Amino acid sequence: MQDITNIREASKESLIEFFNEIGEKPFRLKQLDEWIWAKGINSFEEISNFSDKLKNALSEKYYFNKTKVSSHLISKDSSEKICFMFSDGKVAEGVLILNDDGRTTACISTQSGCPLNCKFCATGKFGYHRNLFFEEIFDQVFFLNKLSLTKHKRKLSNIVFMGMGEPLLNYDNLIRAIDIIISPKYLGFCASRITVSTVGIVDKIKLLADYNNKINLAVSLHATDNISRSRIIPVNEKHNIEKIIGALNYFYNKSGNLNTIEYILFKDFNDSPQKASELAELAFKSHSKINIIQFNPVENTPFQRSENKAFNMFIEVLKDKQIVFTIRYSKGEDINAACGQLASKITK
Ligand code: SF4
Repeated sequence: MQDITNIREASKESLIEFFNEIGEKPFRLKQLDEWIWAKGINSFEEISNFSDKLKNALSEKYYFNKTKVSSHLISKDSSEKICFMFSDGKVAEGVLILNDDGRTTACISTQSGCPLNCKFCATGKFGYHRNLFFEEIFDQVFFLNKLSLTKHKRKLSNIVFMGMGEPLLNYDNLIRAIDIIISPKYLGFCASRITVSTVGIVDKIKLLADYNNKINLAVSLHATDNISRSRIIPVNEKHNIEKIIGALNYFYNKSGNLNTIEYILFKDFNDSPQKASELAELAFKSHSKINIIQFNPVENTPFQRSENKAFNMFIEVLKDKQIVFTIRYSKGEDINAACGQLASKITK
C-alpha cells in the first residue's frame, strides 16, 4: 500500500516533485499553500480552483490531520473556552478573551497537558500527554481568529502562548507556528502582538530573543526566593531565579522592551509587603514590569486567593517602589478558563 503523508508536514521539495509527476504547473503549489495556511482548509474538497482530478490525486497521496472542537463554553464575561481534539484523540484548550476595551486575545496551548507539575495549576494535574505539532498550534489560532471576526467583527488583537503546557519545552513547533502566524502570506499577524509565557526555560528564552526580538516575553515567577519557588514550581531546581534574571536581561538587551514578570498572589505564601519589596527589586534588576494575578481556585491544591487587605498592601508597596505593574483580574473563571485552570474539567 502506498504511504500517505500529512499534507501540512510535507516538505516543499516533495510537493514540487508531486506536482511535476502529475503534470501540474508549479503555481499550483503556491495556490495549495494559500488554501492551507491563509484560508485554513481541512480537506482538499474545499479547494474551489482545483479540478476534481487534481483533488483526487492529492487525496491519494496526502491527508489532513484534522483538529476538531470537542467542547465550546461561554463565560458570563463573554470569554469562550474551546477544547480542541486532535487526530489521535489528545486534547488541549484555547480561550478567546474579550477585553474591556473591545480587543480580543487568544490564549493558545502548546502541549496536551504539561510535564512540569506546578503545584497551583490544573494543567499540571492533568499530566503530560504530548507536544502539539505546529499545525495543531496554528489551528487554535486560526479558529479563535475566525471566532473573533465572526462574533466581535475584528481580528485577534493579541495572541498569548499561555494555555496548556510550557511553550519553550515545545520550542521548534512553537516557532514553526509563529512563522506562519506572522507571515504576510498567511495570517500576517504582528510579532509585537504575540506574548510567549514561560516558567523560565532559560536556554530557550535566549533562543527566542535571537529568533525574533519583537515578540514579548512573560515569565511566571510567583515567588521571590528559590526555596519557595521550588516548592510550587519544581523546575526551579534547574532554572532558578538567578538564571532567569540573567535570561530576562539577555532578552531585554535584544528587544529593548520591558519583559513581564507574572506573579500570582497566594494567601500567606507570597503576599506579604516584604515579598512585594523583593519582587520590585527583581523586576528592577531584570528590566521587567510586573503583572499581578489573582489566584483562580483549582481543586485539590492547598492554595487560596490572597485576602483583600494583603492584596491592597502588596499593591501599595509596588506603588511606593515606583515599579511598572498591572493587575490582571480573572476572566472566564466560571468556565474554568482563567489562568491556571485549563484542563481542570477535562476527563482523560
Ligand atoms: S503553570 Fe504552566 S508550566 Fe506549570 S504546570 Fe501549569 S501549564 Fe505547566
